[in-house]
Amino acid sequence: MNPLQTPIEYLKGIGPSRGELLRKELNIHRYGDLMNLFPNRYIDRTRYYKINELQGTTAEVQIIGKIIHMKTVEFGKNQKRLVATFTDETGQMDLTWFQGVKWIRESLKLNEVYVIFGKTSNYGSQYSMAHPEMELLAEHKASLRSAMQPVYPSTEKLTQRGITNRVVNKAMQQLFIETKAQFIETLPSNILDNLKLISKNEAMFNIHFPKSQELLAKAQFRLKFEELFFIQLQLITKNLIRKHKIKGHPFDKVGTNFTDFYNNHLPFELTNAQKRVIKEIRNDMGSNAQMNRLLQGDVGSGKTIVALMCMLLAKDNGFQSCLMAPTEILANQHFIGLTELAKDLNINIKILTGSSKTAERKIIHEQLENGTLDIIIGTHALLEDKVKFHNLGLAVIDEQHRFGVEQRSKLWKKNEIPPHILVMTATPIPRTLAMSLYGDLDISVIDELPPGRKPIQTVHRFDSNRLKVWKFLKDEIAKGRQVYIVYPLINESSTQDYKDLMDGYESISRDFPLPNYSISIVHGQMKPAEKEAEMQRFVAGKTNIMVATTVIEVGVNVPNASVMVIESAERFGLSQLHQLRGRVGRGADQSYCILMTGFKLSNDSKTRLETMCKTNDGFEIAEVDLKLRGPGDILGTQQSGILNLQIADLVKDRDILMVAREYAIKLLKEDASMEKPEYQKLREIFIEMSAKKNIWNYIS
Ligand code: ADP
Ligand code: MG
Repeated sequence: MNPLQTPIEYLKGIGPSRGELLRKELNIHRYGDLMNLFPNRYIDRTRYYKINELQGTTAEVQIIGKIIHMKTVEFGKNQKRLVATFTDETGQMDLTWFQGVKWIRESLKLNEVYVIFGKTSNYGSQYSMAHPEMELLAEHKASLRSAMQPVYPSTEKLTQRGITNRVVNKAMQQLFIETKAQFIETLPSNILDNLKLISKNEAMFNIHFPKSQELLAKAQFRLKFEELFFIQLQLITKNLIRKHKIKGHPFDKVGTNFTDFYNNHLPFELTNAQKRVIKEIRNDMGSNAQMNRLLQGDVGSGKTIVALMCMLLAKDNGFQSCLMAPTEILANQHFIGLTELAKDLNINIKILTGSSKTAERKIIHEQLENGTLDIIIGTHALLEDKVKFHNLGLAVIDEQHRFGVEQRSKLWKKNEIPPHILVMTATPIPRTLAMSLYGDLDISVIDELPPGRKPIQTVHRFDSNRLKVWKFLKDEIAKGRQVYIVYPLINESSTQDYKDLMDGYESISRDFPLPNYSISIVHGQMKPAEKEAEMQRFVAGKTNIMVATTVIEVGVNVPNASVMVIESAERFGLSQLHQLRGRVGRGADQSYCILMTGFKLSNDSKTRLETMCKTNDGFEIAEVDLKLRGPGDILGTQQSGILNLQIADLVKDRDILMVAREYAIKLLKEDASMEKPEYQKLREIFIEMSAKKNIWNYIS
């Protein structure tokens, strides 16, 4: 048997009870799992501290000195503590033990030179170290310990039950001795050569027992590369297989509707980015495979018209399409917008939402089933079982982050042959993340805004400057512009949030009185019809100010609105702030975004506000967001676990990820099924991984 398959309890020094703990706490079942437990960090043990250099608490330090006195102190019921006075030439400190007092007291020697190691804490100027690691200086010098001491991931329970970092370090040594640590090389030699990677063996040794900083760095690079490389192999292969196996409806005709619209009814010239993206989608839908594509484009980049043109292609090829939006307001906007765009074409477009009337619903269901309805726009209502299509050829999903995986797969199952799927998102997923997560999804990016847009000017103002801000709003309104004022509604059921909103509304009503000003308000507790009516008043320019919660975050399009005021901006996340800001800057006028906050701000809030003031670039903002929040958060809980990487870090190691992806693509181009003899090991690992992990296939 491969020694790395040996159950962990067989390792000397582990045994059944520690084995059980390691299984439960760190998911370590076998020798190989422990081998792949990589240190979080390393402590520099080349440095020795003097007692008078100690500062604050918790630093792990090593100090050379002598014990000059020991006493056993009793406290509580039958509890004992051993306190030793430790000195060097600069001062004195206490060493304390709460366990094994008798045995430790007997084993320690007075007035001998020790090297102690541990975390210090201080009470006033008096430092102490609890349960230090102790080693006589002579032994310390003789033992060939590496300068970089690894610190392994741990849990509270493990430390409580005596599996300290030291125990793990020892177990690791034992493991290397028992198995003789012979690792078979996993990467092909051409990659090792090209990237000057160290061997698997050397990397594994140096990650656990670094011989030098330099070798440690090489070991880390090699292992991170390996991890990311294998993930990329999986993702890219999956994509290739999908293209071969999953048949899609070939949209090979470019018919009358598409051509007529393109030649005669475009309301504006498409940007180059829009043209390119439409071409990419057309090529993809024109092949025999099913399309699974993410369309990324910053707010206002013009995704809607791209969606329409794709749906026209579907129609020209005899298929129906649907467009699904996360809210009713947005679905309505799409319906109005698309109906307007397609008014000169002979296309049947309808909308289905939770508030559609029964009679209307009935007609829609019928027309969908008999194929006379070409495009259906709607909310989650489209997913209901009652909704059956004659032949759904394309499903467009707007604002992807609001829909779960499950919901997407429901759409998928509505027909025997799955429809092409186009997921549109304005939440720019940083390329790094997109590549590692959506490696099996094709990505199109609209990276250009329609011409004539002036970048939105963003400022941060404290609440104390409100009068000046209001004056500014009045000036803008006097020019004929409209204004949004948005309140946080982080929690739908939070009464405080509603109170803030209503208080705000009242004071705005006082400061912007009738008849000179009129104000709309929209929030989540209103009935859909009321919301809609208020929205429409604002869209039609009948009101100057829209007071709202984040209801308006997605998709609302009022080009005449030029100012976005965000109240308590520190409470919003970066992507939300960016989405909200995207509601303005849609017309030809200079637009503004004003972030209002109190004086008290956390460091993260400050970073968010500064980022917003500094840039309009959604991708840059997403990168900062990723750094602040970590990738798991950005994609939501349902996707957590995907990023269970052992050593690489998607944020910090993006450069390595790029290289890994590049090499994976190159290798698969050369030999897609990894059949060459030099790829045999690679193939084995690949197959093993594919069998174990089914975490990549959540999109389909
Ligand atoms: P988003 O990508 O945020 O969904 P929309 O599709 O709502 O953006 O487009 C935003 C605005 O820009 C709309 O008013 C739309 O009519 C307009 N627009 C889109 N493409 C162009 C273009 N190529 N030239 C001029 N205006 C455009
Ligand atoms: Mg949109």
